[in-house]
Amino acid sequence: MKKIAVGILGATGTVGQKFMELLSKHPQFEITALAASDRSIGKKLANMEVVPCTPNLPCKIVFSGLDSSVAGEIEEEFAKAGYVVISNSRNHRMNPTVPLLIPEVNSDHLNLLKTQKFGKGVIVTNPNCSVIGLTLALKPLLDKWSMQAAHVVTLQALSGAGYPGVPSMDILDNVIPYIDGEEVKIETEPLKILGSFQNDQIIPHQVRLSAQCTRVAVSDGHMACVSVKFNEPVKREEILEAWNSFRGLDLHSAPKKPIHYLENDKHPQPKLHRNLESGMAVSIGRLRECPLFDWKFIVLSHNTVRGAAGCAILNAELMLQAGYLDY
Ligand code: NAP
Repeated sequence: MKKIAVGILGATGTVGQKFMELLSKHPQFEITALAASDRSIGKKLANMEVVPCTPNLPCKIVFSGLDSSVAGEIEEEFAKAGYVVISNSRNHRMNPTVPLLIPEVNSDHLNLLKTQKFGKGVIVTNPNCSVIGLTLALKPLLDKWSMQAAHVVTLQALSGAGYPGVPSMDILDNVIPYIDGEEVKIETEPLKILGSFQNDQIIPHQVRLSAQCTRVAVSDGHMACVSVKFNEPVKREEILEAWNSFRGLDLHSAPKKPIHYLENDKHPQPKLHRNLESGMAVSIGRLRECPLFDWKFIVLSHNTVRGAAGCAILNAELMLQAGYLDY
Protein backbone atom coordinates (compact mmCIF):
# COMPACT_ATOMS: atom_id res chain seq x y z
CA MET A 1 0.00 0.00 0.00
CA LYS A 2 1.27 3.48 -0.87
CA LYS A 3 1.85 5.50 2.30
CA ILE A 4 -0.38 8.52 2.95
CA ALA A 5 1.37 11.90 3.16
CA VAL A 6 0.97 13.67 6.51
CA GLY A 7 2.24 16.91 8.03
CA ILE A 8 3.02 17.82 11.64
CA LEU A 9 1.98 21.23 13.01
CA GLY A 10 4.07 22.12 16.06
CA ALA A 11 6.76 19.66 14.96
CA THR A 12 9.42 21.26 17.19
CA GLY A 13 7.50 20.75 20.46
CA THR A 14 7.38 17.85 22.90
CA VAL A 15 4.35 16.24 21.25
CA GLY A 16 5.56 17.15 17.75
CA GLN A 17 8.86 15.36 18.38
CA LYS A 18 6.98 12.27 19.58
CA PHE A 19 4.89 12.41 16.37
CA MET A 20 8.12 12.43 14.36
CA GLU A 21 9.50 9.45 16.26
CA LEU A 22 6.32 7.35 15.96
CA LEU A 23 5.56 8.27 12.35
CA SER A 24 9.15 7.73 11.13
CA LYS A 25 8.54 3.96 11.10
CA HIS A 26 4.81 3.91 10.45
CA PRO A 27 3.59 1.51 7.72
CA GLN A 28 0.62 3.67 6.58
CA PHE A 29 1.75 7.29 6.98
CA GLU A 30 4.74 9.22 5.71
CA ILE A 31 5.83 12.65 6.95
CA THR A 32 6.01 15.16 4.09
CA ALA A 33 5.89 18.45 6.04
CA LEU A 34 7.07 19.82 9.38
CA ALA A 35 5.65 23.16 10.50
CA ALA A 36 6.09 25.39 13.55
CA SER A 37 6.31 29.07 14.56
CA ASP A 38 8.36 31.84 12.93
CA ARG A 39 11.06 31.10 15.53
CA SER A 40 11.74 27.73 13.89
CA ILE A 41 11.27 28.42 10.17
CA GLY A 42 14.26 27.15 8.18
CA LYS A 43 15.56 24.86 10.95
CA LYS A 44 16.33 21.32 9.79
CA LEU A 45 14.71 18.35 11.52
CA ALA A 46 15.31 14.83 10.15
CA ASN A 47 16.58 16.38 6.90
CA MET A 48 13.41 18.41 6.36
CA GLU A 49 13.12 22.15 6.64
CA VAL A 50 10.57 23.53 9.10
CA VAL A 51 7.95 25.64 7.30
CA PRO A 52 5.19 28.00 8.52
CA CYS A 53 1.83 26.64 9.70
CA THR A 54 -0.04 27.79 6.61
CA PRO A 55 -2.43 25.52 4.73
CA ASN A 56 -0.28 24.93 1.65
CA LEU A 57 1.56 21.83 2.85
CA PRO A 58 2.15 18.81 0.54
CA CYS A 59 -0.37 16.56 2.31
CA LYS A 60 -4.08 16.33 3.13
CA ILE A 61 -3.76 15.19 6.74
CA VAL A 62 -2.03 17.09 9.54
CA PHE A 63 -1.29 16.02 13.09
CA SER A 64 -1.31 19.00 15.43
CA GLY A 65 0.87 19.40 18.51
CA LEU A 66 0.41 23.17 18.50
CA ASP A 67 0.47 25.31 21.60
CA SER A 68 -3.12 25.96 22.63
CA SER A 69 -2.61 29.75 22.37
CA VAL A 70 -2.51 29.35 18.57
CA ALA A 71 -3.98 25.90 17.86
CA GLY A 72 -7.63 27.01 17.66
CA GLU A 73 -7.19 29.44 14.80
CA ILE A 74 -4.51 27.54 12.85
CA GLU A 75 -6.39 24.22 13.01
CA GLU A 76 -9.58 25.91 11.77
CA GLU A 77 -7.69 27.48 8.86
CA PHE A 78 -6.41 24.04 7.85
CA ALA A 79 -9.88 22.46 8.16
CA LYS A 80 -11.41 25.27 6.10
CA ALA A 81 -8.77 24.63 3.42
CA GLY A 82 -9.82 20.96 3.24
CA TYR A 83 -7.28 19.27 5.52
CA VAL A 84 -8.09 16.50 8.00
CA VAL A 85 -6.73 17.89 11.28
CA ILE A 86 -5.99 15.36 14.03
CA SER A 87 -5.22 17.43 17.09
CA ASN A 88 -3.85 17.12 20.61
CA SER A 89 -4.77 20.63 21.68
CA ARG A 90 -7.64 21.52 23.94
CA ASN A 91 -9.19 24.23 21.74
CA HIS A 92 -11.79 22.18 19.83
CA ARG A 93 -12.20 19.22 22.20
CA MET A 94 -15.53 20.30 23.66
CA ASN A 95 -17.02 21.61 20.41
CA PRO A 96 -20.22 19.53 20.09
CA THR A 97 -19.44 18.63 16.46
CA VAL A 98 -15.84 17.51 17.09
CA PRO A 99 -15.14 13.87 18.00
CA LEU A 100 -13.04 13.61 21.19
CA LEU A 101 -11.71 10.16 20.50
CA ILE A 102 -10.19 7.21 22.28
CA PRO A 103 -10.58 4.50 19.61
CA GLU A 104 -11.13 1.64 22.08
CA VAL A 105 -13.81 3.67 23.91
CA ASN A 106 -15.91 5.75 21.49
CA SER A 107 -15.07 5.06 17.85
CA ASP A 108 -18.78 5.65 16.99
CA HIS A 109 -18.30 9.36 17.85
CA LEU A 110 -16.64 9.70 14.42
CA ASN A 111 -20.24 9.95 13.20
CA LEU A 112 -20.18 13.54 14.48
CA LEU A 113 -18.12 14.44 11.43
CA LYS A 114 -21.33 14.39 9.38
CA THR A 115 -22.48 17.44 11.34
CA GLN A 116 -19.17 19.37 11.30
CA LYS A 117 -19.04 22.64 9.39
CA PHE A 118 -15.48 23.95 9.46
CA GLY A 119 -15.32 23.77 5.67
CA LYS A 120 -14.16 21.04 3.31
CA GLY A 121 -11.91 19.47 5.94
CA VAL A 122 -12.54 18.15 9.45
CA ILE A 123 -11.11 18.35 12.97
CA VAL A 124 -10.79 15.33 15.26
CA THR A 125 -9.22 15.62 18.71
CA ASN A 126 -7.74 13.38 21.35
CA PRO A 127 -8.29 14.02 25.05
CA ASN A 128 -6.10 15.58 27.70
CA CYS A 129 -3.18 13.29 28.62
CA SER A 130 -4.49 12.36 32.10
CA VAL A 131 -8.03 11.88 30.79
CA ILE A 132 -6.97 9.07 28.44
CA GLY A 133 -5.64 6.75 31.19
CA LEU A 134 -8.54 7.55 33.51
CA THR A 135 -11.21 7.04 30.83
CA LEU A 136 -9.71 3.76 29.63
CA ALA A 137 -9.78 2.52 33.24
CA LEU A 138 -13.40 3.60 33.78
CA LYS A 139 -14.86 2.38 30.47
CA PRO A 140 -14.93 -1.40 31.22
CA LEU A 141 -16.50 -0.66 34.62
CA LEU A 142 -19.18 1.67 33.20
CA ASP A 143 -20.03 -0.90 30.53
CA LYS A 144 -21.08 -3.27 33.30
CA TRP A 145 -22.21 -1.19 36.28
CA SER A 146 -23.83 2.13 37.09
CA MET A 147 -21.34 4.49 38.76
CA GLN A 148 -22.25 7.48 40.91
CA ALA A 149 -18.91 9.24 41.23
CA ALA A 150 -15.15 9.05 40.80
CA HIS A 151 -12.52 11.07 42.65
CA VAL A 152 -9.10 11.49 41.04
CA VAL A 153 -5.74 12.79 42.26
CA THR A 154 -3.07 12.98 39.55
CA LEU A 155 0.73 12.97 39.73
CA GLN A 156 1.75 14.33 36.34
CA ALA A 157 5.10 14.14 34.61
CA LEU A 158 7.25 17.08 33.52
CA SER A 159 6.94 16.35 29.78
CA GLY A 160 3.22 17.11 30.14
CA ALA A 161 4.18 20.78 30.50
CA GLY A 162 5.83 20.88 27.05
CA TYR A 163 9.27 22.35 26.29
CA PRO A 164 11.03 23.98 28.19
CA GLY A 165 8.28 23.37 30.72
CA VAL A 166 8.57 23.83 34.49
CA PRO A 167 11.80 25.57 35.70
CA SER A 168 14.13 23.02 37.35
CA MET A 169 14.45 25.17 40.52
CA ASP A 170 10.67 25.01 40.94
CA ILE A 171 10.29 21.26 40.65
CA LEU A 172 13.50 19.73 42.09
CA ASP A 173 12.75 18.41 45.61
CA ASN A 174 9.17 19.58 45.16
CA VAL A 175 5.58 18.88 44.12
CA ILE A 176 3.48 21.63 42.56
CA PRO A 177 -0.20 21.31 43.54
CA TYR A 178 -1.60 23.15 40.53
CA ILE A 179 -1.71 22.66 36.75
CA ASP A 180 -3.54 25.41 34.93
CA GLY A 181 -6.89 24.26 33.50
CA GLU A 182 -6.20 20.57 34.13
CA GLU A 183 -8.82 19.79 36.77
CA VAL A 184 -11.67 21.14 34.63
CA LYS A 185 -10.52 19.00 31.71
CA ILE A 186 -10.49 15.86 33.86
CA GLU A 187 -13.94 16.68 35.24
CA THR A 188 -15.53 17.31 31.81
CA GLU A 189 -13.76 15.53 28.93
CA PRO A 190 -14.52 11.96 30.13
CA LEU A 191 -18.24 12.78 30.23
CA LYS A 192 -18.19 13.61 26.52
CA ILE A 193 -16.01 10.59 25.61
CA LEU A 194 -18.13 8.18 27.64
CA GLY A 195 -21.36 9.77 26.40
CA SER A 196 -23.62 8.13 23.85
CA PHE A 197 -24.08 9.18 20.23
CA GLN A 198 -27.80 9.77 19.64
CA ASN A 199 -29.55 11.80 16.93
CA ASP A 200 -26.28 13.26 15.64
CA GLN A 201 -25.11 14.49 19.05
CA ILE A 202 -23.35 13.27 22.18
CA ILE A 203 -25.42 12.83 25.32
CA PRO A 204 -22.84 13.22 28.11
CA HIS A 205 -22.33 10.50 30.72
CA GLN A 206 -23.77 11.38 34.11
CA VAL A 207 -21.02 10.09 36.44
CA ARG A 208 -19.78 12.86 38.77
CA LEU A 209 -16.05 13.51 38.60
CA SER A 210 -13.78 15.45 40.95
CA ALA A 211 -10.07 15.99 40.26
CA GLN A 212 -6.97 17.40 41.96
CA CYS A 213 -3.81 17.66 39.86
CA THR A 214 -0.16 17.84 40.86
CA ARG A 215 3.10 18.13 38.90
CA VAL A 216 5.89 15.82 40.06
CA ALA A 217 9.55 15.40 39.11
CA VAL A 218 9.04 12.41 36.79
CA SER A 219 10.09 12.74 33.14
CA ASP A 220 7.27 10.77 31.43
CA GLY A 221 4.18 8.95 32.71
CA HIS A 222 1.11 10.38 34.43
CA MET A 223 -0.37 8.58 37.44
CA ALA A 224 -3.92 8.92 38.73
CA CYS A 225 -5.12 7.72 42.14
CA VAL A 226 -8.81 6.98 41.59
CA SER A 227 -11.69 6.20 44.00
CA VAL A 228 -15.03 5.09 42.55
CA LYS A 229 -18.54 4.80 43.97
CA PHE A 230 -20.99 2.44 42.25
CA ASN A 231 -24.77 2.38 42.56
CA GLU A 232 -24.70 -1.37 43.18
CA PRO A 233 -22.47 -3.92 44.89
CA VAL A 234 -19.46 -4.91 42.77
CA LYS A 235 -16.84 -7.51 43.71
CA ARG A 236 -13.06 -7.16 43.32
CA GLU A 237 -12.83 -10.21 41.01
CA GLU A 238 -15.56 -8.74 38.82
CA ILE A 239 -13.62 -5.49 38.37
CA LEU A 240 -10.43 -7.39 37.53
CA GLU A 241 -12.35 -9.52 35.04
CA ALA A 242 -13.83 -6.38 33.42
CA TRP A 243 -10.34 -4.86 32.96
CA ASN A 244 -8.64 -8.07 31.88
CA SER A 245 -11.27 -8.91 29.29
CA PHE A 246 -11.24 -5.41 27.71
CA ARG A 247 -9.99 -6.13 24.19
CA GLY A 248 -7.82 -4.04 21.89
CA LEU A 249 -8.51 -3.07 18.28
CA ASP A 250 -7.01 -4.43 15.08
CA LEU A 251 -5.00 -1.29 14.28
CA HIS A 252 -1.23 -0.90 13.85
CA SER A 253 -0.62 1.22 16.99
CA ALA A 254 -3.33 -0.36 19.15
CA PRO A 255 -2.13 -2.29 22.20
CA LYS A 256 -3.26 -5.94 22.24
CA LYS A 257 -4.42 -5.45 25.81
CA PRO A 258 -5.28 -1.77 26.43
CA ILE A 259 -5.32 -2.41 30.20
CA HIS A 260 -2.74 -4.41 32.15
CA TYR A 261 -3.62 -5.08 35.79
CA LEU A 262 -0.48 -5.52 37.91
CA GLU A 263 -0.83 -7.52 41.15
CA ASN A 264 2.43 -6.37 42.82
CA ASP A 265 1.56 -3.78 45.53
CA LYS A 266 4.45 -1.56 44.40
CA HIS A 267 3.17 -1.32 40.82
CA PRO A 268 2.50 0.51 38.55
CA GLN A 269 5.56 2.79 38.45
CA PRO A 270 6.38 5.31 35.68
CA LYS A 271 9.96 4.05 35.27
CA LEU A 272 8.92 0.42 35.00
CA HIS A 273 5.58 0.42 33.22
CA ARG A 274 5.07 3.56 31.09
CA ASN A 275 6.43 1.79 27.99
CA LEU A 276 4.15 -1.27 28.19
CA GLU A 277 3.06 -2.24 24.67
CA SER A 278 5.21 0.60 23.24
CA GLY A 279 3.63 3.11 25.61
CA MET A 280 0.10 2.50 24.28
CA ALA A 281 -1.20 0.32 27.15
CA VAL A 282 -2.45 1.64 30.47
CA SER A 283 -1.36 -0.13 33.64
CA ILE A 284 -3.48 -0.33 36.77
CA GLY A 285 -2.64 -1.59 40.24
CA ARG A 286 -3.52 -1.50 43.94
CA LEU A 287 -7.25 -2.24 43.56
CA ARG A 288 -8.60 -2.27 47.10
CA GLU A 289 -11.66 -1.37 49.10
CA CYS A 290 -12.20 2.32 49.91
CA PRO A 291 -13.75 3.28 53.28
CA LEU A 292 -15.33 6.42 51.74
CA PHE A 293 -16.20 5.27 48.22
CA ASP A 294 -16.40 1.59 47.14
CA TRP A 295 -13.06 0.84 45.43
CA LYS A 296 -9.77 2.62 44.82
CA PHE A 297 -6.91 1.95 42.42
CA ILE A 298 -3.95 3.60 40.65
CA VAL A 299 -3.63 4.15 36.88
CA LEU A 300 -0.47 4.92 34.90
CA SER A 301 -0.25 5.99 31.26
CA HIS A 302 2.51 7.41 29.07
CA ASN A 303 1.47 11.04 28.59
CA THR A 304 3.24 11.81 25.31
CA VAL A 305 2.50 8.41 23.71
CA ARG A 306 -0.88 7.04 24.83
CA GLY A 307 -1.79 10.50 26.13
CA ALA A 308 -0.86 12.48 23.02
CA ALA A 309 0.95 11.52 19.79
CA GLY A 310 0.24 7.77 19.99
CA CYS A 311 -3.46 8.36 20.59
CA ALA A 312 -3.67 10.83 17.69
CA ILE A 313 -1.95 8.35 15.37
CA LEU A 314 -4.35 5.63 16.54
CA ASN A 315 -7.23 8.01 15.74
CA ALA A 316 -5.82 8.40 12.22
CA GLU A 317 -5.53 4.62 11.82
CA LEU A 318 -9.16 4.25 12.92
CA MET A 319 -10.24 6.96 10.45
CA LEU A 320 -8.30 5.23 7.67
CA GLN A 321 -9.93 1.88 8.48
CA ALA A 322 -13.38 3.52 8.60
CA GLY A 323 -12.93 5.24 5.21
CA TYR A 324 -12.48 8.82 6.41
CA LEU A 325 -9.03 9.26 4.84
CA ASP A 326 -9.71 8.18 1.27
CA TYR A 327 -7.27 10.29 -0.74
P1 NAP B 1 5.40 22.55 23.35
O1 NAP B 1 6.53 21.64 23.61
O2 NAP B 1 5.41 23.90 24.00
O3 NAP B 1 5.28 22.76 21.73
C1 NAP B 1 4.41 23.71 21.16
C2 NAP B 1 4.55 23.73 19.65
O4 NAP B 1 3.70 24.79 19.15
C3 NAP B 1 5.96 24.04 19.16
O5 NAP B 1 6.25 23.30 18.00
C4 NAP B 1 5.87 25.53 18.79
O6 NAP B 1 6.78 25.92 17.77
C5 NAP B 1 4.45 25.61 18.27
N1 NAP B 1 3.99 27.00 18.29
C6 NAP B 1 3.95 27.86 19.34
N2 NAP B 1 3.50 29.08 18.94
C7 NAP B 1 3.26 28.99 17.61
C8 NAP B 1 2.78 29.89 16.63
N3 NAP B 1 2.49 31.17 16.92
N4 NAP B 1 2.66 29.45 15.36
C9 NAP B 1 2.96 28.17 15.03
N5 NAP B 1 3.42 27.24 15.92
C10 NAP B 1 3.56 27.66 17.19
O7 NAP B 1 4.01 21.89 23.75
P2 NAP B 1 3.61 20.31 23.81
O8 NAP B 1 3.77 19.81 25.18
O9 NAP B 1 4.25 19.60 22.67
O10 NAP B 1 2.02 20.40 23.60
C11 NAP B 1 1.44 20.66 22.33
C12 NAP B 1 -0.07 20.63 22.45
O11 NAP B 1 -0.49 19.30 22.84
C13 NAP B 1 -0.61 21.58 23.54
O12 NAP B 1 -1.82 22.12 23.10
C14 NAP B 1 -0.79 20.67 24.75
O13 NAP B 1 -1.78 21.14 25.62
C15 NAP B 1 -1.20 19.35 24.08
N6 NAP B 1 -0.86 18.13 24.83
C16 NAP B 1 0.38 17.95 25.37
C17 NAP B 1 0.70 16.75 26.04
C18 NAP B 1 2.04 16.48 26.68
O14 NAP B 1 2.17 15.44 27.37
N7 NAP B 1 3.05 17.33 26.50
C19 NAP B 1 -0.27 15.76 26.13
C20 NAP B 1 -1.52 15.96 25.54
C21 NAP B 1 -1.79 17.15 24.89
P3 NAP B 1 8.19 26.65 18.10
O15 NAP B 1 9.11 25.59 18.61
O16 NAP B 1 8.58 27.18 16.78
O17 NAP B 1 7.91 27.71 19.12
